Amino acid sequence: MAGKRTFTMIKPDAVGAGNTGAIIKMIEEAGFKIVAMKKTYMSKERAGQFYAVHKERPFYEDLTNYMSSGAIVPMILEKDNAVEDFRKLIGATNPKEAAEGTIRKLFAESIEANAIHGSDSDENATIEGNFFFAETEKF
Ligand code: ADP
Ligand code: MG
Repeated sequence: MAGKRTFTMIKPDAVGAGNTGAIIKMIEEAGFKIVAMKKTYMSKERAGQFYAVHKERPFYEDLTNYMSSGAIVPMILEKDNAVEDFRKLIGATNPKEAAEGTIRKLFAESIEANAIHGSDSDENATIEGNFFFAETEKF
């Protein structure tokens, strides 16, 4: 069976637009259990660490500015086949290409300010969850 947990964060555009509650409702209605959650903020330096894999990409500078521009809501989620099913729920990186009914189609502003993150593998889900949460915060 595929891994049972994934990591997500609601990004500054969606938090700022007041869409946190609507997005969490979609996540729970899709069958994901919230294992850990908080509202917090990343400095530009911490955003750079989180997205270190994209350091050589042309959008890295903009992305780290954007991700440190406002509050975020990181969460660890649990469900069978969590990583793959959650990527389906959020839709394509570019909201113009995201399927109808996906979180990005409904709430993303642009390819950069695209409302929500979803881990791309079980390994990264663990790394990213541990970036924000201690073991004692996972319940
Ligand atoms: P995803 O979040 O769908 O896994 P990536 O891992 O490729 O997408 O990129 C990480 C984040 O970087 C995206 O969610 C988006 O915020 C931003 N991003 C990706 N591609 C671009 C781009 N071409 N221009 C601006 N920002 C981008
Ligand atoms: Mg990615």
